[in-house]
Amino acid sequence: MFAEIVIIGAGVVGLAIAKEFSSNFFCVVLEKHSSFGCETSSRNSEVIHAGLYYPKNSLKTELCIKGNRLLYEFAEKYKIPYRRIGKLVVAVKKEQEEKLNSIYENAIKNGVNGIEFVSNKYLQTFSSSINSQSAFISKNTGIIDTHSYMRCLEALASENGAIFSYNSKVIDIEKTNNEFDILIKTVEGEIFSLKSPIIINSAGLHSDEIANMVGISDENLKLNYCKGHYFKINSNKFNIKHLVYPVTDSSYGLGIHLTVDLNGDLKLGPDTLFLSNRQINYNVPTQLAEKFYNAGQTYIKGLTIDMLSPDYAGIRPKLQKPDEQFRDFYIKNETERNLDGFINLIGIESPGLTASLAIAKHVKELVT
Ligand SMILES: Cc1cc2nc3c(=O)[nH]c(=O)nc-3n(C[C@H](O)[C@H](O)[C@H](O)COP(=O)(O)OP(=O)(O)OC[C@H]3O[C@@H](n4cnc5c(N)ncnc54)[C@H](O)[C@@H]3O)c2cc1C
Repeated sequence: MFAEIVIIGAGVVGLAIAKEFSSNFFCVVLEKHSSFGCETSSRNSEVIHAGLYYPKNSLKTELCIKGNRLLYEFAEKYKIPYRRIGKLVVAVKKEQEEKLNSIYENAIKNGVNGIEFVSNKYLQTFSSSINSQSAFISKNTGIIDTHSYMRCLEALASENGAIFSYNSKVIDIEKTNNEFDILIKTVEGEIFSLKSPIIINSAGLHSDEIANMVGISDENLKLNYCKGHYFKINSNKFNIKHLVYPVTDSSYGLGIHLTVDLNGDLKLGPDTLFLSNRQINYNVPTQLAEKFYNAGQTYIKGLTIDMLSPDYAGIRPKLQKPDEQFRDFYIKNETERNLDGFINLIGIESPGLTASLAIAKHVKELVT
C-alpha cells in the first residue's frame, strides 16, 4: 500500500495536519489506539492560550498567537463549543508584583492583544472570590471542547479522502531510496507495511521513539515525561468568571491554576511531577489534595480541603529536563540528516492544542 503522506498519531496535532494536507494529498493516519485523541489531547486544560509566557522569537510564541486566532475562527465556523472567557494573572502578594509586571511586559513584547491591568472594582464584580494584590486580564484566552474539535478535524480530513487506520501501531521504519517503508502491527497481531515519501511524526509522548526508528537518537531530543494532576472543586459558592493563574516561579508549568470548564465547573491544576521512568499512569492520588489546597487557598477565598476531589491527569512530553529553563517545540524536516521527507514534531507540550492549526500550516510549509 502507498500513501502520499503518512501521519503517525491521531492526537489533535496529527488530526490538524491531516485536515491541512488532505485537500491536496492522499493521507493515511496511523494510530495505535481504537480512536483519535486517546492520549495527551484528551488530558489537558482545554485552554486556548494567548501566548503570554514564552520567549519572543520562539515557535511556541509564534504558533500560539497564530493558532489562537485560527482556533477561534475554526470554532466559530464549525460550531465547536468554546468561550472566550478571559484569564486573570494575579499577584497575591506585593512581592509578586515585579513578576506579574514582567509577564505583562513579555506578553506586550510578544504582540499579544487584549491584555490590560484590572481594577479592584473589576475584580469585585467579576471574580470577587479571588484574593489578589494586583492582576491583569488576557481577554483572548479561552476554553474549547477539545473532543468536538478533534471529531470535526477527523470528519473534515475523512471527507477529503484521508484514511484513518486505527489499532495500527508503527513498529519500525526503513528508509529505501526516496521512500520510507513503515511497518505496522494491528491489535490482532497482524503486520502490514505502507510506503510513503513523506512521514509526519506527531506521535506525542512517543515521538522520540518514532524518530529513533530512522536512527535519530540525539540525547537532546529525548523526551522527559512530566505529569500534571487535576482536582475538582465541588462547590458552586464562588464568584469566579475567568480562568485564574497565580504568578509562579516555576519554569516547567504555569503553577496550580484555576480553570472554569464549559459547564461552569471549577478545577485546580495541573501540578508538575517529572516521572523518573517512562511508565504512563494517569492515577490521581487522594493524598495530593493537601498540596492542591495549599496552592489554591492562597488566591481563592473560602476554599476548604473537603471541597477537593481527584479528577484526572495528563503527561507533558517535555524536551526540557528538570534543570533546564526553556525548550521550544522541535518541528523539522530532517533533510540535514539525509532524511528529507521525515518531519519530526517532538516536545509538543502546551500550547500544542492552541497552536494545532498553526502547527499544521507550518508543517505544510516545510513539506511543499
Ligand atoms: C496536563 C496538560 C495540560 C495541558 N493544557 C493545555 C492547554 O490548556 N492548552 C494547550 O494549548 N495545550 C495544553 N496542553 C498541551 C496539549 O495537550 C498537547 O500539546 C497536545 O495535546 C499534543 O497533541 P499531539 O497530537 O501532539 O499528541 P497526542 O495527543 O499525545 O497524540 C499522539 C498520538 O500518537 C499516537 N501514537 C504514539 N505512538 C504511536 C505509534 N507507534 N503508532 C501509532 N500511533 C502512535 C498516540 O496513541 C496518540 O494518540 C496540555 C498538556 C498537558 C499534559
